[in-house]
Amino acid sequence: MLNDDEIQRALVITAHPDDVDFGAAGTVATWTDAGVEVAYCIVTDGDAGGFDPGVPRAEIPGIRRAEQTAAAKAVSVSDVTFLGYPDGRLVTSLELRRDLTREIRRVRPHQVLCPSPERNWQRIFASHPDHLAAGEASLAAVYPDARNPFAHPELLADGYEPWTVLEVWMMAAPSRNRWVDVTDALPRKLDALRSHVSQHTDADGRLEERMRGWSAMNAHEAGLADGRLAEGFFVIDSAGLR
Ligand SMILES: [Zn+2]
Repeated sequence: MLNDDEIQRALVITAHPDDVDFGAAGTVATWTDAGVEVAYCIVTDGDAGGFDPGVPRAEIPGIRRAEQTAAAKAVSVSDVTFLGYPDGRLVTSLELRRDLTREIRRVRPHQVLCPSPERNWQRIFASHPDHLAAGEASLAAVYPDARNPFAHPELLADGYEPWTVLEVWMMAAPSRNRWVDVTDALPRKLDALRSHVSQHTDADGRLEERMRGWSAMNAHEAGLADGRLAEGFFVIDSAGLR
């Protein structure tokens, strides 16, 4: 397990705009509060998302990128990369592994936070096929691709040196072993979620109530005091021998 003072950079990889904000924006806020530099890499533009049919489809990627950029700002993240893969059709391709490897080698993160490649049987919506594919590609990029100089040799030729990620934090995993107290970060998490205006995240005005209820259940599972709120993850040591 990393000590907090060892953590200096983190890379968040998600399949869609808004995934990080539901699952981990509170944790990201605690990291940026602690001085961690956090970067986001969003694999698709969420262009198959539920939308007002009056909005031309070609405008959707731009809208969703702008919303995710605003949501990132709410938790003090300004380095946001969009890979532009098509929403709803994501697979764990070598091309995706290479693009994520490039991001890992560019950001050189101590931690990667990504979706779990393992299906959560309790919550079918948490395991969208795009999330599973992005999770599998992220893990493959962490090991072996990013640390192996002979993987995707065009990256080394472009100056992207090998990099070993120390820990992987997975969202929506079937089991969880790490909890983050996000009580103080909840207002910023709600701001981040409300940035996704096109997704009507707070259409019924009950977003805060839902987030508090879900986060309180996590806190209870984590053994935190009543009134605390938490996000949960499955965290693995990805460093190997150091
Ligand atoms: Zn998603």
